Amino acid sequence: MSAINFVIIGYGGMGSYHAHTLMPTEQEKIHLLGVYDVLEERRQAASEKGLIAYDSFEEVLADENVEAILIATPNDSHKELAIRGLQAGKKVICEKPVAMNVAELDEILAVAKETGQTFMVHQNRRWDPDFLVVRDLYQKKQIGEIFQLESRVQGANGIPGDWRHLPEHGGGMLLDWGVHLLDQILWLVNSPIKKVSVDFSYVLGDQVDDGFISYITFENDVKALIEVGTSNYTTLPRWYVKGYEGTARIDDWDLSGELIRATNNEDASAPKPIQAGVGLTKTMAPPSEEATEKLSFPEAKAEYQPFYANFYSVVREEAEPIVKNSEVREVLALIEHMFELAK
Ligand code: NAD
Repeated sequence: MSAINFVIIGYGGMGSYHAHTLMPTEQEKIHLLGVYDVLEERRQAASEKGLIAYDSFEEVLADENVEAILIATPNDSHKELAIRGLQAGKKVICEKPVAMNVAELDEILAVAKETGQTFMVHQNRRWDPDFLVVRDLYQKKQIGEIFQLESRVQGANGIPGDWRHLPEHGGGMLLDWGVHLLDQILWLVNSPIKKVSVDFSYVLGDQVDDGFISYITFENDVKALIEVGTSNYTTLPRWYVKGYEGTARIDDWDLSGELIRATNNEDASAPKPIQAGVGLTKTMAPPSEEATEKLSFPEAKAEYQPFYANFYSVVREEAEPIVKNSEVREVLALIEHMFELAK
């Protein structure tokens, strides 16, 4: 079966990453023909890399060699580009966040249905190694049933670039990083949401949020804290995960951290009281050596391929999409709800 001929719309940071890092991992399935960007200098950069630089979006749509487009433009432009692509008979992969709100997504999905064209959203962080470790712990219960997860990303560099500062372009950190962390948690826990609270941060003085902390309780009683920060000069762990029989702390994307399980050894000696500050405590003293064991994190390697390989199977072999549009819609509805809560 032939490779799918792609054109990338928007050859900025993420468009370039698709072109030169992600797509080349699936050379037999995905063939990049060229790019279109509104900026002449970006089209020039594409030409210098040996890609066709289309002069207009219309030219891309009119080219019968183009079977699919990948949209990597600012968030407010996704809807129009996706709909026009689908109407021109192209399959579409859209970067996250798929759209500005659920109403926009519904318009896209209606056109995808009408035209019968494949539409998928690039929620790539479902394959992050740190998330794969947490997913493995959650599913295989190495530290028992997991009942609490804390998922954080924290930086000290503010909001990057230009359009991410502006509400009209769909800027802000909930739509930028929040959409990844929420997608991971909702996909993992896979239970309806019972309760949500959110506290947005505006410390940088932008019109859009520069971070947020959210608590989510699911119907199955799993609780998640999600935090995104852009003015954190020292950071908390990427993940802190509690199960009934142990705790995992993943410090960073390099998978440093600790996985500790209770041995439930009845002969383990009781913890000894320690001096803590100006007081004494047994409650907060470290457990005795026999009471816990240190485990290695389950094997989890970065896999870039599954998204494009899955897209290919969806298009050519009628496989199920891994990132389902119904899941993407659920995450966007939650984001919209969080913005409503903050009003
Ligand atoms: P960017 O500003 O670096 O690049 C955007 C590019 O799109 C620019 O070159 C700009 O000239 C071009 N552009 C703007 N409007 C256009 C239009 N109508 N038609 C054609 N080109 C247009 O932004 P970025 O960081 O690459 O982000 C682009 C998208 O990718 C956003 O939706 C963002 O959320 C997403 N993204 C996803 C990930 C991920 O991990 N999945 C990471 C980064 C960005």
